[in-house]
Amino acid sequence: MDVMTANDSELVLDGNAAAGLLQEIFVLEVTSAQIQCETCGSTDAIGALRLHAVPMGAVLRCRHCDGIVMRAVNTRHGRWLEMTGARRLRF
Ligand SMILES: [Zn+2]
Repeated sequence: MDVMTANDSELVLDGNAAAGLLQEIFVLEVTSAQIQCETCGSTDAIGALRLHAVPMGAVLRCRHCDGIVMRAVNTRHGRWLEMTGARRLRF
């Protein structure tokens, strides 16, 4: 294993080392997760966002500012989740 040290308090590994943590996060009930809108800074449960169904998937908009928080699409090249409109997720 190739281990680099960024400073005294953190280890730098490749992304595979985060597999256990990411698996714990992504099996949780996602609609109850709290998400913060990048545009206006408000925080809501994902289930409280407004869904705009589109032919290939979904656009989820903030109910406060109407900003796009998440886009999820299903294409023949894979499933894509775009979250540039979200500041953070809390489970
Ligand atoms: Zn917003």
